[in-house]
Amino acid sequence: MKIVSRENSKPVYSDNEKKSKKYLDQLYPVDGNYISSEELCKLKQLIEEMKDNQTLEELAEKNMSKKETELFDKRFEFSKSLDKNETAYLPALIDAAKIYVLVDFLTSVKESNIEQSTISFSRKDSYLKFLNPDSDDIIKQLLIEVLIETQKENNLSKQDYNQIKEKFKHHDKIMEILEIKIEVVKGGISKIKEYITEADKLAQMRGATELIKEANIERTREIINKAGLIPECLIYGSGGNSFIVVPKNKGQEICEKIEKEYSQLLLGGRFAFEFLEAELGEFLFDYSRLSTKITQKLTTRHIVRLPMLQSTSCQHETPNSVVPQDVKLCTTCWLRDPKIEIKIADEQHWVCDICYSKFAKSKNIRSSYHEEYCKFIGRNISDFKLPESLSEIDDYIALIYGDGNNLGNVIMNIRNVFELMYLSRRLDKITVSAVYEALKNAIEKESEGEENATAEKESKPLLKFEIIILGGEDILMIVPAKWALEVAKQIIEKFDTAFSNTITLSVGILITKSTMPMSAAYDFTVGLLKNAKKYVKKKKLEMGSVDVEVLTGSSILSKKGNKVIFPCEVERLEKILKAFKTIKEKLAKAKIYLFKEAAETLLPEEFELFYVFHKAREENIDAVEKAIQEMLDEDVKFVGGFVKKKDVDGKEQVISPWVEIAKLRDFI
Ligand SMILES: [Zn+2]
Ligand SMILES: [Zn+2]
Repeated sequence: MKIVSRENSKPVYSDNEKKSKKYLDQLYPVDGNYISSEELCKLKQLIEEMKDNQTLEELAEKNMSKKETELFDKRFEFSKSLDKNETAYLPALIDAAKIYVLVDFLTSVKESNIEQSTISFSRKDSYLKFLNPDSDDIIKQLLIEVLIETQKENNLSKQDYNQIKEKFKHHDKIMEILEIKIEVVKGGISKIKEYITEADKLAQMRGATELIKEANIERTREIINKAGLIPECLIYGSGGNSFIVVPKNKGQEICEKIEKEYSQLLLGGRFAFEFLEAELGEFLFDYSRLSTKITQKLTTRHIVRLPMLQSTSCQHETPNSVVPQDVKLCTTCWLRDPKIEIKIADEQHWVCDICYSKFAKSKNIRSSYHEEYCKFIGRNISDFKLPESLSEIDDYIALIYGDGNNLGNVIMNIRNVFELMYLSRRLDKITVSAVYEALKNAIEKESEGEENATAEKESKPLLKFEIIILGGEDILMIVPAKWALEVAKQIIEKFDTAFSNTITLSVGILITKSTMPMSAAYDFTVGLLKNAKKYVKKKKLEMGSVDVEVLTGSSILSKKGNKVIFPCEVERLEKILKAFKTIKEKLAKAKIYLFKEAAETLLPEEFELFYVFHKAREENIDAVEKAIQEMLDEDVKFVGGFVKKKDVDGKEQVISPWVEIAKLRDFI
């Protein structure tokens, strides 16, 4: 085999090349991870079962175990002539297969030269052709050319698509495919998290999440199918965003239909879709530039709020009662006129149209994230109870907001659509399993504690979490406050490890009462996530980070410069969790509050005397002081009850850590 194996060839890389190689390793399956002939056989049998418009993933989900589906992420030598060519990286089977079928489809649409819905194209046959390495055809040759051209190492200034086209000008058959006119459709929901958290009640947030999923996944796919296109046209579709490749003259229709569906489902949501004409070759050889072009078109277009169409549910349930005079605003978003009276988790509310549509969606329906979690842990959702309000999760809850660091750099290194497909699938998979794994551990840990207690056991355990967004590198979720730091730590560790710390995860956590309005809580968490990400940049960390804020009553931790423990990198978070265990065991809560109050009221030199005096009576103070020092940043010293650190000018700052310790103590 003449494929250049990365392990065997051991070329010498410059620093820059090493860096970009590190990114590239995230964009392809591991070298040597080839699909076996038994697996190939099994896959072919599976394809035979494929129904019209059924995606490969659905087919696999129905017929394969989770373990078996791993074969989709293996490498597959789809053509004998791959042997003769030097492609350093081979794409994952599923991505290569889907692009093959898409190109095959677009070619046959062009050949038949008639309305797409009337052409007979067999996806099944197309997949089987792809899966047979002995059958070589022009599309496979073209895909190999794409891999060769886009993977050229010495290709510093990226080749223009026209330069690439030059190379094939004497190759009529390839030129014919390259010049197939297509349209790419891209778009999505803007301010998706604001849209979801705008209404306070858990039922409404869950409803909004489900509405977005329905629009983004089910409805979008229906539109594609009804337009006579195939599921492979959808390059990606998650988190409210879509990227679709369609034959020429289909773009406008798809855009309009998607926007219409979105405006019916997502009342008050903001979204936009655009399309752009291109050649198929541009999509294959110059994916990044094409994607940037359409993104620019999207951002320059004013994101319109489409005229609000009356949803059917509203027409049927026109309120027959009159809104009382004293109710001036919707009582769940406080933004719009109240229209309809409803009961949410035993509370009466007057809500606006938009909040009503979210609530209506949540009634007696599924919660796909809870379902997905149960499936992940191999259990049935009917074995559990779902929270109906935030207070059921806990009196104090934590809003956890996570986002990837350095992802922009990886995306900048993307050279073709295979790399994009692989990365987005992997991001999804890693984020989802990190979150569910961490939740599973937290739930198990809690139930271990309960087994010893004599408390009455409920027949069905409650799944004490709510996921608002989970996909890509985006995480927004609610857990009981006391789980938050451990859950965050585990998610970050799993995420960072899975990406070999090339991409890392930062997290902002707000601990607050379950009655706090969610839109305000979300705004707060955005700031915390920013701090956590800034910390990674400032310290040039190659690991994730956390910032946390405790909001109880009216006091806020971070009056400028008040925080000495957070933000922190994930390695230090582990030390913090350990230190707090010691502090809780060895120092009474009353003492912590005593130090906190004293540090706030006394002069620094007075406090130090006060501290020394009280310290002398504490048997375990050495262990506590050691624990505090160990959880702090290296350049910070814990002396005389204070934390001392040098500011940017080298001046010594004296800060009391006791506020932060007192606040966090109850939640760690
Ligand atoms: Zn209405
Ligand atoms: Zn409202």
